[in-house]
Amino acid sequence: MILPPHLMVKAGHLWIGGQDTVDLAQRFGTPLYVTDEDRIRENFRRLAGALTAHYPNVRILYAAKANGNLAVFRILASMGAGADVFSAGEVSLALAAGMRPESLLFNGSSKSPADLALAVEKGIKVSVDSLDELRQLNAAAAEAGKTVEIAFRVNPEIDVPTHPKIATGLATSKFGIPAGQILDAYREALDAGHVNPVGIHCHIGSQILAVEPFAREVEVLIRLASDLIDIGVDPSFIDIGGGLGIPYRRETDRAPTPEDYAGAIMPIFLKGIRDLGIEPELWIEPGRWLIGDSTILLTRVNSVKTAHRTFANVDAGFNLFIRPAMYDAHHEVVAANKADTPPQREYSVAGPICEMGDILASDRMLPDLEAGDLIAVLDAGAYGFAMSSQYNSRPRCAEVLVAGGRAALMRRAETIDDLIATMLTPPW
Ligand SMILES: *Cc1c(COP(=O)(O)O)cnc(C)c1O
Repeated sequence: MILPPHLMVKAGHLWIGGQDTVDLAQRFGTPLYVTDEDRIRENFRRLAGALTAHYPNVRILYAAKANGNLAVFRILASMGAGADVFSAGEVSLALAAGMRPESLLFNGSSKSPADLALAVEKGIKVSVDSLDELRQLNAAAAEAGKTVEIAFRVNPEIDVPTHPKIATGLATSKFGIPAGQILDAYREALDAGHVNPVGIHCHIGSQILAVEPFAREVEVLIRLASDLIDIGVDPSFIDIGGGLGIPYRRETDRAPTPEDYAGAIMPIFLKGIRDLGIEPELWIEPGRWLIGDSTILLTRVNSVKTAHRTFANVDAGFNLFIRPAMYDAHHEVVAANKADTPPQREYSVAGPICEMGDILASDRMLPDLEAGDLIAVLDAGAYGFAMSSQYNSRPRCAEVLVAGGRAALMRRAETIDDLIATMLTPPW
């Protein structure tokens, strides 16, 4: 298998960021998420560099939902990232990591009154998803005697080649304002008094392995910018969202590089803004691309069983890693303690959850496995731990960060006591 440069095989073991995964599993226990800090930094530099080679006014807003660990926020904050945030929790994490309020965009199609009040209080820009929300936000800002900078999230009605659960720019999506209603929304914002429409926001979906949809999206947004200038809006940023995919099937996926991505969108963007005589910032909101490949999930084999197929029953299930069950996602698996043994048999790697769907990987050729062996699930950094749960009353596992030859916990494992800690016994 083609391993990314931060993973390697040494003396039969899989290593990540200069650490032997067999040692890490021994030291910290399994299941265990392991994240390579240097890989995140390298990914950030590569994506930022590809875009700024075309145009200097680029801002990267990390899509916070992809991985909510504070240590990850801190790494990205130190690189200069802002964040695309969807909740009060994500706002708090971003601010705690040192991101400035001006570099955040509060997104979401269902913001509560408390969410809107928080954005007003902290001076965070809001991507407004409906006229109802606009009116509520304007009222909240008026009450606080403030003005809030906003964008509208426009639904560009673009079909993208990805899993239907993560195609967000279709005409049928719950997100955004239909293109046909968007000018009226900006007109209302211009007149509202306590909101200032300064931006345009769009996000067409996730895990997109082609650049054409992004190019079409930028065309739609440039046309919209032109219409907005006509009604008196001066766009100071155009936010094209995230969604650039990564090659989960390491042998066969052909994923665009950041250079391909920049090469597809930047000429359209640059010609568009030049024709319009404006110099807005270009914002992008990558999640998966920045952190997806930085992380592996280590899981121990509990038992092996041959039935209609051969199962390697491991200690991590969809409570910790739901992407295979939820999106039919393919993740490569490596026998981490037998990493240079040739494949001998087909295994399905199955978790401990009481559900048929709890299969992390189906029918993979692996070395002969036995109880105690260690499996690494690759590319688990995005929407991995972030989507975990305590289903089947399983405490969540620990997360370790490795960097410069060191390894340390960035989240301790939960205990059984943690499971019970928030539960109360009704007085009867
Ligand atoms: C999820 C999301 C992103 C990030 O998507 P990736 O595929 O992880 O890059 C960006 N913007 C918005 C609005 C999102 O909902």
